[in-house]
Amino acid sequence: MPIREKNYWLDTVAAPLAQSARDLPDSIDVVIVGGGFCGLSAARSLAKRGVKVGVLEAETFGWGASSRNGGMVLTGMKLPVPTLIKRYGRDTVRKMYAASLESIDCVEHIVREENIECNFSRCGHLEVACKQAHFDGYEESAALIKSEFNHELRIIPKNELRTEIGSDIYFGGTVDETSAGLNPAQYVAGLALAAQRAGACLFDHTRVTSVALEQDNGAGKFRVQTSRGPITAREVILASGAYITKATPALQKKIIPIGSYIIATEVLPSDLARELSPRNRMIYDSKHFLYYYRLTPDNRMLFGGRAAFFPETENTVRQSAEILRRGMIGVYPQLHDTKVEFVWGGTLDFTLDVIPHAGKIDGMYFAAGFAGHGVAAATWFGAKLAGLICGDPNDIPFDGIKFPAAPLGLRSGNTWALPLAGAWYRLLDFFT
Ligand SMILES: Cc1cc2nc3c(=O)[nH]c(=O)nc-3n(C[C@H](O)[C@H](O)[C@H](O)COP(=O)(O)OP(=O)(O)OC[C@H]3O[C@@H](n4cnc5c(N)ncnc54)[C@H](O)[C@@H]3O)c2cc1C
Repeated sequence: MPIREKNYWLDTVAAPLAQSARDLPDSIDVVIVGGGFCGLSAARSLAKRGVKVGVLEAETFGWGASSRNGGMVLTGMKLPVPTLIKRYGRDTVRKMYAASLESIDCVEHIVREENIECNFSRCGHLEVACKQAHFDGYEESAALIKSEFNHELRIIPKNELRTEIGSDIYFGGTVDETSAGLNPAQYVAGLALAAQRAGACLFDHTRVTSVALEQDNGAGKFRVQTSRGPITAREVILASGAYITKATPALQKKIIPIGSYIIATEVLPSDLARELSPRNRMIYDSKHFLYYYRLTPDNRMLFGGRAAFFPETENTVRQSAEILRRGMIGVYPQLHDTKVEFVWGGTLDFTLDVIPHAGKIDGMYFAAGFAGHGVAAATWFGAKLAGLICGDPNDIPFDGIKFPAAPLGLRSGNTWALPLAGAWYRLLDFFT
């Protein structure tokens, strides 16, 4: 079978899907821009608390990163803990780490409460060391995570690595049993249905083109222009991830959109699948320009990486298929003759300081910068923003920290310098 330039996960989503509401009302309590994990999680929480909420999605629900990702529901944050503590202080980082653990519970809770069939499983994740120096740092890092956050990681020396992965190229690994895996397209489809069941109005093919704050009898309200006409709202949540547009320029300036690509093989014989990933972990390596991979529930090898730094286009997707296949065979020579059946790409929302941010910008609520942790984080941040709107105390440790703009050339809408950033990270991977 030739490779299909198509997201494998979408092939696994069966009806019923959430149906778009027909007519946009003149006004509503809360407008949410973007129908991915973040927007739909916020909508579900708001609707459950009796708030009239509308999700405006430019394409279809889950169309963005939320249906395209690896489905890894991961603990921790992208940056090393010492860097975080130096930047934000011990207390704040403890709260951030606790949030990363809580966000996995949050996904699990929603999946169970809403009966979302998406193969959620607490299978744990495995990080594998590409160099001896990377492995040497694992012990210290695990000790710090234990002492600071009372969270346990397990170090796997090279001579035991075969119990975790059917590859001999790595120098050891570290396992976190708390992480989970799921089918992201099924999860986001279930989240949309759950939000709708709770009473949220979902509008697909409704692109927000501008948002303006107006005064109405002394009270501020937002006038939101869309491809289906205007709507006013008391509050707006920006949940547009890496696909943010110039409709909301203040936040757009802060987002660095980075492409990531995935291939999925044909279904593997079960003994081969077990050999490649004996414990069915979510796996990623220790490089900046990293590979991440896992088995799908039907035993395909799903293998992702930053084959190109640019957001996805037909060309980058096509080129990625061969780049990733070579990467996969480098890890797993056993897959040399295995057919690749799917290739697709998506865009991740990075921030310059590689940490998520949330709060208010231009009077609107927002959460962004989830990078490769958005399955859990976007769900959690969505629920938290909903809580803020309903008057819950603000305990989001990512709110109020400095949020730098992205440099010109890297920011959303103006990404000419992304290949330079890619080259820089390749150099770092070579030398460190
Ligand atoms: C290939 C890939 C692999 C990944 N792997 C993982 C992983 O394994 N684990 C993990 O935790 N994270 C992973 N991520 C990241 C994760 O998928 C994202 O962080 C997460 O999905 C972000 O969710 P979101 O709701 O913020 O944004 P999105 O899901 O991107 O949704 C934003 C939506 O906003 C809409 N939108 C934008 N502008 C407008 C507008 N003006 N009007 C109306 N709608 C608008 C878009 O159409 C889009 O559907 C991966 C991402 C990619 C691309």
